[in-house]
Amino acid sequence: MSEAYVRVAVRIRPLLPRELLQQHRVCVRVGPGSAQLQLGSNRLFSFDHVFGPAASQDEVYVSCVQQLVESVVDGYNATVFCYGQTGSGKTYTLGGRNPDEDGGIIARVVQDLFLLVENKSDNAMTFTVRASYLELYKDELRDLLELPTIHKELHIREDERRNTVVVGAKEVAVASAEELFSVIEMGNALRHTASTGINQHSSRSHAILTLQATLSYHNKKSSSLTSVRSSKLCLVDLAGSQCATKTGKNGIRLKESCHINTDLLALGNVIRCLSDPRRNRPNSCGGLYIPFRDSKLTRLLRESLGGTAHTLMVACVSPSHSFTVKTLRVLQFAAKARHIRNCPGPIALQTEIKSESIARHTNDVGLVEQEYELRTLREQLKKRKKEVELKKIAVKGNIVRESSLLDVSEPDKVKVQEERSEYRLLAREAAVSVPKRFAEISGSSLWCSSITRRGTRFTTYYSDIWEQHRQRDTRGLTSCLR
Ligand code: ADP
Ligand code: MG
Repeated sequence: MSEAYVRVAVRIRPLLPRELLQQHRVCVRVGPGSAQLQLGSNRLFSFDHVFGPAASQDEVYVSCVQQLVESVVDGYNATVFCYGQTGSGKTYTLGGRNPDEDGGIIARVVQDLFLLVENKSDNAMTFTVRASYLELYKDELRDLLELPTIHKELHIREDERRNTVVVGAKEVAVASAEELFSVIEMGNALRHTASTGINQHSSRSHAILTLQATLSYHNKKSSSLTSVRSSKLCLVDLAGSQCATKTGKNGIRLKESCHINTDLLALGNVIRCLSDPRRNRPNSCGGLYIPFRDSKLTRLLRESLGGTAHTLMVACVSPSHSFTVKTLRVLQFAAKARHIRNCPGPIALQTEIKSESIARHTNDVGLVEQEYELRTLREQLKKRKKEVELKKIAVKGNIVRESSLLDVSEPDKVKVQEERSEYRLLAREAAVSVPKRFAEISGSSLWCSSITRRGTRFTTYYSDIWEQHRQRDTRGLTSCLR
């Protein structure tokens, strides 16, 4: 697998009519190079892309997202996530409402995904897209595609391949761009938004749209399945960092703000650890602890940050001078994210073939996920049983050394046991034969007092060892029988 850094694009939105009326001054400009940005008069930042207020939605999409959609069709995982202060243009940039001029990244992705596949597909390949749409609202994960269970919390698990799986999330199989649009529209309608002092349609939750693309290749002659590639594209619209004085000082708004800021703090910590130069040194990848488990948001983004996906972060900023400090923080955060190394690779899954057929036959993708969970729980149970047995042996038989023996692998265990019994036999043999031999020697002319003393010492020594082993074995046998 080759390595790729997380790419970062910064988008500066135009001043809003309200800000123009209040005569806000502009504090961010696109810098001398097209990938540079100047904050105030003296701070210069470099990114992979910088888009000024005049940049169109299409420009943003074509310059940095289109290639990700192509990589998804080629079997790679990809993620686009929008980050920034509330009211800075994240939902506008990602938005999936109208696939016209104003349509954001999602709208264009949906159109392009189906177009690319149509161009690529032949008789030997079939392509399926499944969509899931979740929101993380007040630390609860909810399904935006299922109205009856919108208030039911979903749970995150890890499968045996250490992939993050959301148990029970609905996945809708779609056959065309239009179908996918209507699915996304439905999800958008259910998402939590509210009017705050900064933004009239402020997102109160983090939304994650996942498009799982599965390409199945068949043998042209026998039409049997030869391989399956399953890759996913995650489009994440994060809620913006909140300021209680502007987004609501009490009630539900304050609670939402607390959760949003806590999640963003956890994300910041993960990005800080991942971009640590110590982690990025060659051969030091696994050394540093990354606090992914601190929040559900970071668990969900695990694959995209330091994982196997091609990741693009779109940092949105307001140009208004009244947000200069917030903008500086977002830019510093974005600059850190550029140092995160991912290891993208095409994902060809033999096991997916099994899941796919189950999903298709039963027409219930939830079943596959329940299977995943069941397997994980079974593994945990097995591990726990082993631990309990280990404790029993250690406590009852008082054989402390046994615990270390059970930790070693099976062939090593056998070897150690063989060595022990060999040692015991030798000790027994010595305990019997040494006194005999000394009795013989004592009868001969070579006999002298120092040899007698040594002989007595050896005899006692071997007899002691033999006795110790005999007692230990009796104790072990009794505890096992109990
Ligand atoms: P966020 O999701 O970051 O809280 P929004 O996407 O809701 O912010 O944007 C806040 C407001 O700014 C909306 O009215 C939106 O239409 C407007 N806006 C954001 N970015 C742009 C842009 N690039 N061009 C025009 N209007 C924009
Ligand atoms: Mg928003």
